[in-house]
Amino acid sequence: MTAYDTENIFAKILRGEIPATRVYEDDETLAFMDIMPRTDGHLLVIPKTPCRNVLDATPEQLASVIATVQKLARAAKTAFDAGGVTIQQFNEAAGGQEVFHLHFHVLPRQDGVSMRPPGQMGDFDEIAAHAEKIRAALD
Ligand code: AMP
Repeated sequence: MTAYDTENIFAKILRGEIPATRVYEDDETLAFMDIMPRTDGHLLVIPKTPCRNVLDATPEQLASVIATVQKLARAAKTAFDAGGVTIQQFNEAAGGQEVFHLHFHVLPRQDGVSMRPPGQMGDFDEIAAHAEKIRAALD
């Protein structure tokens, strides 16, 4: 398995070297908004400790991340009065992964509304407003 790259973009976010719209954090995990949101409220959950993806993560990393995914999925569903929530997660390039620090996508969904195509930069002010709605819906 390829070694963890400490210069990946999410490692830089964790070190505070580049900005992110943070929504929630605890000792083990961080949740922040995706800059290319495929739905309103699209966010990412990552462990604070290094691992590339599900394939090299420890059971403890997976357990803490999934607990935060559930917390944020519930908050995002409430914040957007969503009918449901899509959770996505990719492993290695062949599996669709582009950033090699374990992350889960949390995407609140509305009935009959498709996700936007990938790779489209979101509006910063709109993303910030969506983050605030999710923060307000957290327990
Ligand atoms: P993937 O590895 O395929 O799950 O895709 C990486 C995801 O990270 C994409 O949804 C990107 O929009 C998102 N992304 C990339 N750079 C940043 C960043 N600096 N802040 C927030 N999200 C990012």
